[in-house]
Amino acid sequence: MTRMLIIGPPGSGKGTQAQRISERLGIVAISTGDIFRANVKGGTALGREAKKYMDAGDFVPDSVTNEMVRSRLSEDDVENGFLLDGYPRTTAQVDYLDEVLAGGEQLLDVVLQLTADDDELVHRLLGRAKEAGRSDDNEAVIRHRLDLYHEQTEAVVAKYAERGILRKVDGHGGIEDVTDKIMGDIQSPSRVSIAGGR
Ligand code: AMP
Repeated sequence: MTRMLIIGPPGSGKGTQAQRISERLGIVAISTGDIFRANVKGGTALGREAKKYMDAGDFVPDSVTNEMVRSRLSEDDVENGFLLDGYPRTTAQVDYLDEVLAGGEQLLDVVLQLTADDDELVHRLLGRAKEAGRSDDNEAVIRHRLDLYHEQTEAVVAKYAERGILRKVDGHGGIEDVTDKIMGDIQSPSRVSIAGGR
């Protein structure tokens, strides 16, 4: 049973790694970005609301995002654990998630941060924009999403570091190598250490 988060800047490969890690651990991966994109594609009211923000590279408001996560975490398939990808992204979302998990008497086991430098990320994202045609992958929006990551999501990382459950993995390198590094890291015995500040 593992309950974990994966946090990383846009373009760090967190979605790809979330899929691979969740398969290896036999837990469900829950990506808020994927849920939003599925709703945009399906033309739902949630999708129409989210799209306005996503296209600008902004965060979808907490009033929408938090409820969506609460509802997803109440489904049966999270009983064996879960890997949340892309949530929480703000300290207010951290507090909300704490509440949701405490309601089910649950605690997070590990928070994994994938790191990469900004120039590499912009380069990767511009490449992905050409291939996949994501509407939030033009350079101005990419820079804005990176700024938001630094301004808001790094504070999330700091909160989990204080709790002693943060693990950092360098996201540069081949997909397989990064997956192996993550697996080695989250399965190492020191993960259960109560020492803070990692
Ligand atoms: P991602 O695929 O994780 O990069 O998410 C794509 C977009 O979905 C983000 O740029 C936001 O607009 C929105 N989004 C995903 N997760 C969240 C979240 N936790 N809070 C607010 N907006 C989010």
